[in-house]
Amino acid sequence: MRGTSSDALRELARARSVVLTTHINPDGDALGSMIALYLFLQRRGIQVQMWLDDNLPVMYSFLPHLDKIARPPITPQPVDLFVVLDAGDASRTGSSGHNYRGRSLNIDHHLSNSDFADLTFVDETAAATGVMILRMIEEADGGVSKEMATCLYTAIATDCGFFRYANTDAHTLHAAARLVGYGAEPHTISEQLQTMPLSRITALSKVLDTLEVSGCGRIASVMVPPGIASTDVEDTEGFIDYPRNIAGVEVAIMFKPSAEKETVKLSFRSRRLNVSDLARSLGGGGHARAAGCTLKGSVYEVKPRVLTRVLEALREAGL
Ligand code: 5GP
Ligand code: MN
Repeated sequence: MRGTSSDALRELARARSVVLTTHINPDGDALGSMIALYLFLQRRGIQVQMWLDDNLPVMYSFLPHLDKIARPPITPQPVDLFVVLDAGDASRTGSSGHNYRGRSLNIDHHLSNSDFADLTFVDETAAATGVMILRMIEEADGGVSKEMATCLYTAIATDCGFFRYANTDAHTLHAAARLVGYGAEPHTISEQLQTMPLSRITALSKVLDTLEVSGCGRIASVMVPPGIASTDVEDTEGFIDYPRNIAGVEVAIMFKPSAEKETVKLSFRSRRLNVSDLARSLGGGGHARAAGCTLKGSVYEVKPRVLTRVLEALREAGL
């Protein structure tokens, strides 16, 4: 069932024990929204846990309370309310999504939301789940602490490319302005996100070495080469912005193979094409201009198949 922020708040108010989770390959919106909601629920005296079936990317290590995020249990745990943030599909939560028993609430902003939860509060017009969490906290009691503001500013800023992407609108900027009023420091957060270990720059140079432009300059793709140690590529967020920013490119793709699982994680970014539809047709999802999926096989099998699909989609869209 679909509901509003008031419905979501009512669900949360009824629960004594809550588990929060978010998507694998967590980004700033996933982590920032989850920690801010954790702090809000904790303040209300609700017993709350955070689960994540993945590693934490180093670039977000400045966020508070990361040490409270635990791996999901092996056997299902009873809980009053299981909350999935920033994911439109249960499979996106890894094993967290199976290891609970209780009601579920999904708070999300993906176009491709699959209505998997008992109650779904989705706002596709929100630039980030962080905007929705901010509104909920303001609606409930208005008290946004500096820690919550730091988390939510990070959530919003990272999901809209620091207020540059097409999802940036007056609501996004207004939410950011309120968060600065609550104590978020944009320059400190930007500085933290821009500072990176040397290994990330080395990984970026290896990824950019794989750049290929096809489809008469409309498709640019990069690959995370299998030779790079997994620790170096733990955090490849933002790498796809380079092919995306090439003049004339309509669709950028990053192929990230997983050696152990014989799968390839794909990221799509676009200027005009609806890549959410494209990713959905491949079993994934996302937003109109940023989407992804995971395909079985080696990158050498997957890549030509995907490039053909993208060319078809561009032709169908008249681009
Ligand atoms: P990214 O390329 O940064 O991993 O993801 C871009 C967007 O697409 C994000 O909003 C993310 O949630 C969504 N996305 C990425 N991979 C998948 C996937 O396998 N399934 C679904 N449903 N969404 C995905
Ligand atoms: Mn998001």
